[in-house]
Amino acid sequence: MDTLIFTSSATEANNLVLRGHFESSPKRRAYVVSRVEHPSVLRVMEALKAKGAHVHYVGVDRKGEIDLDALRETLKNLGQEGALVSLMAVNNETGVCYPVSEAATIAHEYGMLFHTDAVQGLGKLELDLGGMGVDFASFSAHKIGGPKGVGLLYIKNKRSIEPLLLGGSQEYGLRASTENVAGAVGLAKAMELALKRREAFLRHTGALKEALIQRLTSSIEGVWVHAEGALTLPSTLNVGFEGVPADALLMGLDLEGYAVSSGSACSSGKMEPSHVLLAMGVPRALAQSSVRISLSLTTTDEEILGLSEAMERVVERLRSLR
Ligand code: PLP
Repeated sequence: MDTLIFTSSATEANNLVLRGHFESSPKRRAYVVSRVEHPSVLRVMEALKAKGAHVHYVGVDRKGEIDLDALRETLKNLGQEGALVSLMAVNNETGVCYPVSEAATIAHEYGMLFHTDAVQGLGKLELDLGGMGVDFASFSAHKIGGPKGVGLLYIKNKRSIEPLLLGGSQEYGLRASTENVAGAVGLAKAMELALKRREAFLRHTGALKEALIQRLTSSIEGVWVHAEGALTLPSTLNVGFEGVPADALLMGLDLEGYAVSSGSACSSGKMEPSHVLLAMGVPRALAQSSVRISLSLTTTDEEILGLSEAMERVVERLRSLR
């Protein structure tokens, strides 16, 4: 029977699926994930490798899209070793949407379970978990305006994972500890509101994204719109500005009153470019000059105009310093 488990975050939900399945199924050691997953999947894979898991990575093309034939080829050779495939529903840095249902069918053809990190799809995509055929799906409340500190894990068959937390028998024995009731209620309310506003959200952010791309590409030289031509969510835009360090651009925009982000991560004291953009074959220098812009139902036309003008100013200033 299928089940929903409340967790503290999507990070915990991802850990629970991947580590929990590894513990419950010691004979099947092969895991398959895309190269563009969130660190809460990729870093777990690294940790499981050290415990004997065999991890296979499926790449993406220049648009950020995955090749299902390559996935099939990877699974073909795993035989009885095949444990689980994990593919995110939507990439958090580029907004690229992945063919989760098709990938789940392929995983099942080869006797493997299928997990999707659906954090970025919640309230935006139509997510019929039963119909999609996934075995596990992870969600997070704060990505849809709910409270921080609560996540959700959908599980099709509770026997396929071992708990990470042992103690009481809460959450069907899969996650001991007293439930965060206020968080769960907040998540449910946020889901209800997000669902109600889904169409308006997609329409509104779609129009804003188009306007922003148009303004940026017509007013600034050397702009690269990542994942162009791929199926993406309208609320996420990732753009690179040749010769402009992303951290300086972020700070310049912050001073102008705009919060954007970069996919760079601090590793061993230095900034590493986004693993997602690198996996897409974006040159390292351009990846280090790229920022992600998130749009919402409350973003206005004036803010889009203001942001594009601020970007023009900051990019010009930073380029003049070269
Ligand atoms: N997965 C994806 C795709 C995300 O975007 C995020 C958050 O940014 C997470 C997982 C982690 O979510 P949480 O902050 O709830 O641990």
